This record gives sequence, structure tokens and C-alpha cells, in this order.
Amino acid sequence: MLTLTQDDILLGCEAHDWRGALDLAAEALQEAGLVASGYRDGLHAREAQSSTFLGGAIAIPHGTPESREHVRATGVRVLQFPQGIDWHDGNRVHVLVTIAAQSDEHLDILRQLTHVLDRDGVAERLAAADSRAEIAGLLSKAVVEARLDADTLCLGFPARDASELALAAAARLRQAGCVESAFVATVADQTPRNLGQGLWLVTSDKGVTQPALALATPASPLAAGDSPLTGVFCLAAQGDAHHGLLERLITLLESGSASALAGADAATVLARLAGESATATTRRVRVLNAHGLHARPAKQLVQVARAQGVTIRVRLAEGGGRAVLATSLTKVIGLGARRGQPLLFSAEGESAKAALEAVCQAVTEGLGESVLPFNESREHQLPQPVVTINPLPEDEPQTAVAASPGLAIAPAFVLRTPRFEYPERASEPAVESRRLDEALREGEAQLEALVGQARGGEVAQILSMHEEMLTDPELHQAAREGISEGASAEAAWWHAIETAAHAQEMLADRLLAERAADLRDVGRRVLGLLCRVELPEPPDTPYILIADDLGPSDVARLDTARVRGLLTARGGATAHSAILARALGIPAAVGAGDRVLTLANDTLLILDGDRGRYTIAPSGERLASAEQRLADQRRREAEAWEARHRPARTRDGHRVEVAANLGNTAHAQDAVERGAEGIGLLRTEFIFMAHASAPDLETQIAEYREAIDALDGRPLVARTLDVGGDKPLPYWPVPREDNPFLGLRGIRLALTRPEVLETQLRALLIAAAPAAGGEGTARPLRIMLPMVKDLGEFRTARAIFDRLLEEMPAAERATDIQLGVMIEVPSAALLAPTLAAEVDFFSVGTNDLTQYTLAIDRGHPELSAQSDGLHPAVLRLIQMTVQAAHAQGKWVGVCGELGSDATAIPVLVGLGVDELSVSARQVPLVKARLREFDLAEARAQAELALAQSTAEAVRDALEVR
Ligand code: PEP
Ligand code: MG
Repeated sequence: MLTLTQDDILLGCEAHDWRGALDLAAEALQEAGLVASGYRDGLHAREAQSSTFLGGAIAIPHGTPESREHVRATGVRVLQFPQGIDWHDGNRVHVLVTIAAQSDEHLDILRQLTHVLDRDGVAERLAAADSRAEIAGLLSKAVVEARLDADTLCLGFPARDASELALAAAARLRQAGCVESAFVATVADQTPRNLGQGLWLVTSDKGVTQPALALATPASPLAAGDSPLTGVFCLAAQGDAHHGLLERLITLLESGSASALAGADAATVLARLAGESATATTRRVRVLNAHGLHARPAKQLVQVARAQGVTIRVRLAEGGGRAVLATSLTKVIGLGARRGQPLLFSAEGESAKAALEAVCQAVTEGLGESVLPFNESREHQLPQPVVTINPLPEDEPQTAVAASPGLAIAPAFVLRTPRFEYPERASEPAVESRRLDEALREGEAQLEALVGQARGGEVAQILSMHEEMLTDPELHQAAREGISEGASAEAAWWHAIETAAHAQEMLADRLLAERAADLRDVGRRVLGLLCRVELPEPPDTPYILIADDLGPSDVARLDTARVRGLLTARGGATAHSAILARALGIPAAVGAGDRVLTLANDTLLILDGDRGRYTIAPSGERLASAEQRLADQRRREAEAWEARHRPARTRDGHRVEVAANLGNTAHAQDAVERGAEGIGLLRTEFIFMAHASAPDLETQIAEYREAIDALDGRPLVARTLDVGGDKPLPYWPVPREDNPFLGLRGIRLALTRPEVLETQLRALLIAAAPAAGGEGTARPLRIMLPMVKDLGEFRTARAIFDRLLEEMPAAERATDIQLGVMIEVPSAALLAPTLAAEVDFFSVGTNDLTQYTLAIDRGHPELSAQSDGLHPAVLRLIQMTVQAAHAQGKWVGVCGELGSDATAIPVLVGLGVDELSVSARQVPLVKARLREFDLAEARAQAELALAQSTAEAVRDALEVR
């Protein structure tokens, strides 16, 4: 609901003309601290595109999407012009509802105001109002939605008379939550009134929580005395909110078509009550516009409807909404149709069919906007909540999901995807083609420059992949075809991008989602150039990045010199983007909800990545204490850094190796410099993902050799290709699966193309071969297989491995080799004794092990906070794994995120884990943590943890100690 306080309203404004009125509106927003001065131009630019006049003497000026960068906080200012202003579209305006919106909140405000416009004399009352309270009352009056839909109908009820039908209808209203028992009791005392034409009515306003109309019809024809009994209506009355429902009833009776309700099904009953005649021609069509039928598409629809020369009505096909004239803009907007909702158009007469076809075609084509097909199974049609402008409280810690440790204090920079506005059609294809070519060239040059600046690593790899995407001839061809069919360069390009991205998503659903995001990223770069919209540029000074969600590619592109922290509205703690944030050492909290996206840029923020908390606009006291903690943290880090090359041991000297997790072999040297005693997990899929097609043998050898050389005798634990789940590989598409995390992923997928696995194993064995001359340092190679569920899978993979060992001359391949499995699936932990007899080692992937043990998606935006690896069920599986391995003299590592959790480290050591592999940045801190306790303490902690029944209990118990 639009909630206005009196401070939001300015009475008695005056302006020479509409431009002056807009300037006043901009000033009012600026004075309220909602926008910066640049927003004024945005208001004018939006008005130049099309009038924001809404009807009933109200206009709703708002800025263009590009001007949103000037919005500091979402809000509205209402300006009353008692004399009225001649608006540029010929209308007269008395009230401006001026909106500063950071996303599409104005759509909801608009939708609410359309209800205001329905009231008689609203323009005069707004003009004459002499108090702010009166204006607020007129604009903010809550809209009570009266109810009439399939759930309020009780058709074919086995009743014997009108009273039983009345009671059945009342009971239906109670089940639908519209009335309480008192209502049913009063209905029971009533004798239904005869309305004529076989219809009867009972009505009451006792115990009504929502005005509603129910209808009960009999299972077999009945009569009441001499009168027919087709059905009994039951009206739950409330104030004047039920008047619309009564009107519908009266219209039905006036049309003389009440008999059509006899034996009718719900769709027919709702159609007749919506005002649709039984002889009308109807057509159903789905709204495809991303933001539903908002002002611009609604205007187009109205124009198309007006051009048909026949009366066309439209209603939401689902629910019991009334049909409105498709030629009335406010009525059409007032339908509040969202993307995916079907509309039902109706018209009478001979030309009805052609007219409805024309209207439905216009809707399908997007009413002037680019639209994508609707896929029911992938898109939810839940009504979206009305936006209430509910700012985040200042100086109050808010909860999110902890994703990467550390504390950050810096101003916010909210990454908002820019919106582009452009004409769909263009008259000169040659000009459009040239514009597209220029934008593509410029985009490529930009990417090339960025690749140069990135100086290698994951960022450079991702940007080069973008470069490759940008030069894809098929994409160019698709865009050119669009241009030759009359589309503008922008529309044709974006359509080509969306089609390609969509095709990728459809192919493998979540598996390829991230590559689709990359495509859109590339697409936006070019679109920005075509529309001359600057992509949001973060400030040059340190900031905390706030975004809806970040894919691994976004995180890898972050400028770590300036990004002090990450806060996302969505995402989970063990999603790969969170893992990358840890790898980059950026404190992060995820899953904070949409509210964080409404934060104004530059708002000071404290972000606690350890606890998943954030506080906006902290008080001086809170800031001082956070700064103190930050200083302590830096001191601890400095001490840990100093001691990073000391061997990892507990206080009493118990040895636990600390290795690094890497996704990029170029970072191996850096890991060693950070004190890593080896690489405990090389996620080789990231190497595959950085190439546009599967890297060949030579490329892989070079990659792995880089890491092994840098390790200088320290062991490399390389995991074979682990794609699927949340790690897509564009050139290895997987058929669409309902449940990709339980589908073809990890070793299961790899074994479907054993030749790929074989090439990888061969490359690893060659890369770890003794250096030329056969002397020098050892090159220990550990290979592990991901997502193994039992011995069968291990043996299949080992057969390939053993064959290779036999085939390859010993001098040309690694000699210090072990083959192990990851323990990520509960079955593998439960069967650890059988596996331990044949593998060389285990490495526990606590991210997936927790996911599969607790049945919580590791990236789930709401649930992943509960996906805690310190859950006693997970700890027991680790205990079983360690016991089985040690019984066979094999070692066990932990390479999931739990390995760097300060609370979990003593527990893991106490359980007997021999190696911890953590992100390279965490190596010094994990080593420092080991020095804080001795083995006896660790064992006591493990025992205590195992004795608990929930993860919270484990954390509580360990904290108390
Ligand atoms: C794990 O599942 O814990 C693991 C280390 O593998 P990944 O996070 O790459 O799936
Ligand atoms: Mg895993």
C-alpha cells in the first residue's frame, strides 16, 4: 500500500507550466534527501519519452532507468497544484506523485493509484483539499480487494432447499478465510431473498474479514415454492467495498442471463459474473512483458483495442475479476496483470474474432517491448508483494548468511543492472548494421584493454572468454537477421543474446545458468555502447559491494584493491561465488534479502563476514568498536602472516598439514608464498571452464605443470573434472534435469565420456613426471575423484588409471602417485571401510557432504544458513571416514569450507583429520589457529561436538568452552 506521511505532501504549489512543476518536484525530492540534483534531468527525460499523466488529475513523474544512480533512497513526494497545470499531453494536472525509485517500485505505486482514479470527483477533491491529511487520505486509502473466484463457488451441492444452499455458500466463504463463524450463524438465521430468474440472496456484515461473494448451486434442479432455484448467492458485506460485487449481480440480472448459471461450471459462472455474455467470442493470451502491463505496454494495448472498432473487454483469466474495457488505460493498468498471467479478451459480433486476434497478437509481440516466451514450469506466477517502502533501520545489526570471514567498514556501492530504453524498430537496416558493428568493435576493444589490466589469473580468463563470446559469428548473424527484418540494432542484438542465453539455460537448467549470465553480461556491454548508457562505475575509493547475486565470474572480476566486502540479496554460503570470495579474502555475507538493494550509494556500512551481520549508518560508538575489532583482526593477520612458513602443528606438536585450495594453477606460487604446504584441492573444472572448448592434452599438461613446478616438491592433490550441479561447462551440455544436484555430475558425468577423463589423467601423469634429466626434487601427485558414491565407481575410474600407468613408460610419467576419492556423498562415508581398502587416501568435501546429508541445497538463498558442516550428523560421517582410513593406514584430508572455520578446526583435528586444505588466503590463519590448542583439547572438543544433537548445539557447546 502507498503509505504517505504528511511530511511527504506539499500543499499549494504553483508553477508556470509543466516543466516548472517538474523542477519543483525534483527540488522536493532533493530537499528530502531522496535524490541528487542529477535526477531532475531524469524526470524531464522520462516525460519526453511519454507522458506520465495517469488520469483523475494525477501525474506520476519518475526518472529514467539511467537516472536511478542519482537516487539515494526510495520514496515519494506529493505536490498539490490547486490552480492546476496544463500537462504537455493536453490533460490538466492537480497532483504530482513524484517518485524516486531505485528499481521498479513505481509500478506498484502506479497500480495503487489506478484504484484512486476510480472514485468519482477525485480530481476536484485533490485540487480543493486544504490539508495534507486529506490528500494523504485520498491517495493512500487502502484498497480492499473484494473476493469472487473459484474458491468462493460451491457448485452442484447436494442440497434440498435454498437455506441449505445458503449455508453451503457461507461455509465456503469461511473456508476461504473471508468470514468467521459469526457470519455463518447469521446466515443460518436468514431466509434467502428471491432476486428473480432463479437466483436468491443472503447477506450479512457480521464477522466479515474480507468482502466476498459466494454462490452455491444445487446438484439437481430444485424449486422454492413456485419459483425456480438456480442458485443462492451469499454476500459478505463490508463498508462500501462490496458494492462492486453487488453491481455485478445486478448486471447479471439486468442482462437476463441468470439462467446460464444453472448447472454451469466455475469458468462459466465467473465469466457471466465478470460481465461476459454467453454469446461473446473470447480469446486467452498470456502477458509476456517482464514488468507486466505497466503504463507503456498498457497504452499500446489500449491503442490497438481502440483501432478495432468493436467493444473489447478484458479481464484476468484466472480469478473472478471483472471484465473492463480494453480501451480504458486506467482500467487496463488497474488489472495489475503480471508477466505470465493469462488475460481473457471478449467481444461481440461478426468482427469480434479478427479484433481479438489482432489484440492477442499485439500482446504476444510484447506491446512495444522485447519479450521472452513464458515457460510455466520455470517461472512462478505468485503475485508479488506490493512494495512498501520500508527502509533498513540505521545502527541496528541485520542478519544475513556468513559467507566469507572478516570485518569490513566502508561506504556502500549498490550494483544495479542498468536499464536500457531503445526503439524496437528502425527504418534503415544499413545504418543499424553499421551501429552494431561499431559497438561490437568498441566492446571488443574494451574487453581487450580489461584483459590487459587483469594481468592473468581467473579474471583475465573470464574476460577473454567474454571476448570470445563477443566475436561469436552465430550471435552476429542472429542480430543481423533481426536488423534485416526491421529491428533496431539494440533490439536485434539483445534478442540474439537473450535467445542464446535462454537456449543455454533450457539445455541444462542450472548447470548452464552461469554461462548464460556471462552472455548477458557481454550483451549488456554492447547494449550500453549502443544506447550510450554508461555501465555503473564503482567509485575509486574503497567500498562494500551490494548486489542482487554474484556469479563466480562476477566475483572473480572484482577489483580486490577497492572492494572491502560483499553483501548480496541472494546466494548461499557454500555456493561457488562465496568460495571465490573467500579465496579472494573478501569478507562477505549473502542472502540478505532485497532490502539491501534499496540502500543508497555511499551509506556507511559495517559488514561482519564471520557472523553474517551488517549494520548501516552505525553510530559513532558502534563504529569505534568495529574499528577496534578491525585493528585487532589486522594484528592477528599480521602475526599469522609472520609465522606462515612454520610447519603446521598443534601447540603440543601434533602435525596437521595445511594446504591450499586452488581453481587456477597460476596461483600456485602465491599459495606457496602464503605458507601452503601443498595444494590440497585443485578444482580442475575451473581450468576447463576458462576455455571455450575442452582443453587438449598439451594445454592441460602446461596448466598442471605450472602448479607442480611452483610447488617445488610439495604435493599436488588434483581433483578430476567435477562439473554438473552448480558448475556448468558450456561445451558439455547435460540434458535438462529436474534435479541437477542429484543428476549427472562429478564422476558420474565424467564416466559418460571416459576419453575426457583419460586425457586428463594422462596430462596429470605427464605433468608430474620427473623434471628433465630425471633428477631433482620429487613431484608428488595425488589424484582424487569427485562425488564417488561407492567402490563400483572408483573401480571403473581406477581401471582407466591403471591402464594408463601400464601404457606409459615410467620415465615419462609421475612416479610418486596416489589415487583417492572425495568423501562428499553420505554413502561413501558409510561405506568408507570398503573404499579404504582400495584407495590411497580420502579428502572430505564438507560442502557437498553437508548438502547431501542435511538435504539442503548448498546455494539455497534462505536455507543455506542451516547447512552447517558442524552438524553432528556430518561430524559422525567424518569420524567414520577417518576411522576406516586409519585402520588401513590411509590419510584423510578435509578440503571443504569447514576446514577454515575457526570453531571447526579443533574438532576436525580431534576427529583425526590429517590435512586441512583451505583457500590460500586462509592458510596463515589456519596455521595460527592450530597453534592455539593441543591434541587432547581437540579430542575433547570432537567428543563434545559428537555428543550434541544439532549444529546450533554443537556451536553453543564449543563456544562455552
Ligand atoms: C566440497 O564439496 O566440499 C568440495 C570441496 O568440492 P566443491 O566445493 O568444489 O564442490
Ligand atoms: Mg564438492
